[in-house]
Formats: sequence, structure tokens, C-alpha cells
Amino acid sequence: MGTGYAVNRVGILTSGGDAPGMNAAIRGAVRTLQCLGIDCIGIKHGYQGLIRGDFLPLDERVVKGITGRGGTMLYTARSQEFMTDEGRQRAADTCRYSGLDGLIVIGGDGSFRGARELSKHGVNVVGIPCTIDNDIGCTSYTIGFDTACNTAVEAVDRLNDTMQSHERCSVVEVMGRGAGHLALSVGIATGATIIIVPEVHYDFEKDVFERIRRARLGGRNNFTVIVAEGTEPAHKIATTIQDEIGIDTRLTALGHIQRGGAPQIRDRVTATCMGYRAVMLLAEGKGSRIVAMQGDEYVDYDVDVALEMTKEFDFETYRSFSALTFLDKDFFVNL
Ligand code: ADP
Repeated sequence: MGTGYAVNRVGILTSGGDAPGMNAAIRGAVRTLQCLGIDCIGIKHGYQGLIRGDFLPLDERVVKGITGRGGTMLYTARSQEFMTDEGRQRAADTCRYSGLDGLIVIGGDGSFRGARELSKHGVNVVGIPCTIDNDIGCTSYTIGFDTACNTAVEAVDRLNDTMQSHERCSVVEVMGRGAGHLALSVGIATGATIIIVPEVHYDFEKDVFERIRRARLGGRNNFTVIVAEGTEPAHKIATTIQDEIGIDTRLTALGHIQRGGAPQIRDRVTATCMGYRAVMLLAEGKGSRIVAMQGDEYVDYDVDVALEMTKEFDFETYRSFSALTFLDKDFFVNL
């Protein structure tokens, strides 16, 4: 018997890099589907699980209490097989044989590229942006970013304590996959001396040496350099500071601890609302869409349009940070 909606059975998968809030998105979608009387199937291990038919039926009991849990109860994966047309055909066949007439993909823009290809095989797909990097063009916010920032800030605060005691310089590498959004927020929130991001060209003399010199003149005896992964290798920066400025310097790469932990309230709420919204789109017969945020509003875009959109680095915020480190005004003009 039909549900009266455009879909009768919807699959949910998480794909690519994980982020805190994926579970909340799963639960938001599952509970909405149940409310509408639509069947709900979890697909384990991302697109690879879709190819293999690795299913876990989902209902409100299975997703009970997961809103506040990090990671993803459906596991995530990167699938080489899905990168081939044969692999995607097999995934589309799985959908057809199992009666899945809608699919929710929770992941980053790689996963959305996969979703776009799958929709060419006749599968109705809606994407939910989930990555700690906040680097997806079509949305001002991605699920997981706030939690990752808080985790990194807590770690840097701890490092700052010991750097102060020993009068050292701390070089901290944060994640970002070639984007400086996380580094910028963490640097400002922890009162860093220097923030190095891929979007802003940096020169060791002017941007590192000069800022540390000025901070020293201002009475500081410990310094923090936040480096976005994918810029200059952080160990190289640490070695240069140690050798050329002569400050005892320690390097910390925060790595995967930024991906874990209980999601913060912003990620729980955004993920739940996006899960709801993804279901409503499918129920209304809309496929090939990506759920997004613009400011405080939830919106959605056609997947082709979404994948063409780019996100500007927040130069205005970077300028405010630079003002705090007393750089001369020529710097602002050139930024
Ligand atoms: P994220 O979703 O976090 O950006 P990835 O870039 O690793 O992560 O993508 C996750 C998965 O999505 C890949 O392992 C692959 O199976 C699929 N995928 C990524 N790009 C494409 C593409 N261009 N075509 C088809 N599938 C893709």
C-alpha cells in the first residue's frame, strides 16, 4: 500500500569523512520518515554498503538516544568501486531490487558528487552537508564545524597553559582540508599570535617573525601559531621559528580528535532540522537536492547548482584578527 507521498521506502547512508552530528541527522530523518509512515532503511559503510546491500532497518528504537553521540552508527567509508560507472549501476540496481525510491546521503561534497552521478541512474537523492571543515560552497554552515572548533579550542587552551609556564611557542596544526575556516575561528577564540591559512599568502619575515617580535615588545613570553592543514607543513614552520627566532617551540597536530566527541548544541539542532528537511523534499517528490543553510535559514539547491557554488574565505574576520596583532595598516589594504 502506498504512503500517499512521493516515496515509500527511503535509504540513509553516511559517506566520506565523519563529523559530529551525523547521528543526529540520521535520527532526524528516521523519526520524520516514521511520522509520515515511510519505510526507512539504514545503509552501512556509505556507497560501498549500497553496492553490497549492507542494510540495517531503522526505526525510532534503533535511533533512540543517538542525538548526542559522535561518530556515525551507520559507519562511513570511501568507495573506489562507486567511482566507476559499473559500481554506480550496481548501487542503483540495489535500490531498485530493494524498493528504495529515495536516498539521503549525509556527507561532504565528494559524497554529493557521487549522489549526482547516482541520480543519473534514476535514484532520487537528497544530500545533507556534514563536515568539520565548513568548506562546502552551497551552505554557510556544515554539521560538525562548531563541535570541531570547540574541541580544538579546548586543546589549544590547555597547550597555552603549559606554553605560558615554559615561555614557549606552540605551533598547532588544525584540520581544514585546504580551507582556513576552522583555523580562523580557533585562532581568534584562543588569542593566537598568528593564524596561517591557505587563502592568505604568508611571508615568514612579515607574518611570523614580525608578529612575534611585536608580541614580545608588548610583554608576551609565549606565543601560539595556528596552522591550517594543507598550508605550509606545520613542522617546517615550527623548525623555522625555533632556528631563526630562537624560541623553544613545540608542535602539536590535533588530528582526528577534532572529528570525534559529543556534538555541540548547534550541530545537534542543525542536523536534526536538516534530517527533517531532507525527508520532506523526498516526500514532495523532489530529488537531486542538497539541503543547506544561508544565514539562519534552511534552503535547498539542485545538486548541479550546489556543486558549482564556492565559499569565500571570511577575509573581514581575518582582518579583525590582524588588527588585534597590531600589524600596520598597509597589511589591510593588501589583504
Ligand atoms: P566527502 O564526502 O567527505 O567529501 P570523499 O571526497 O572521500 O568524502 O567522497 C566520499 C565518497 O563519495 C567517495 O569514496 C566516492 O565513493 C564518492 N565520490 C566522490 N567523488 C565522486 C565522483 N566524482 N563520482 C562518483 N562518486 C564520487
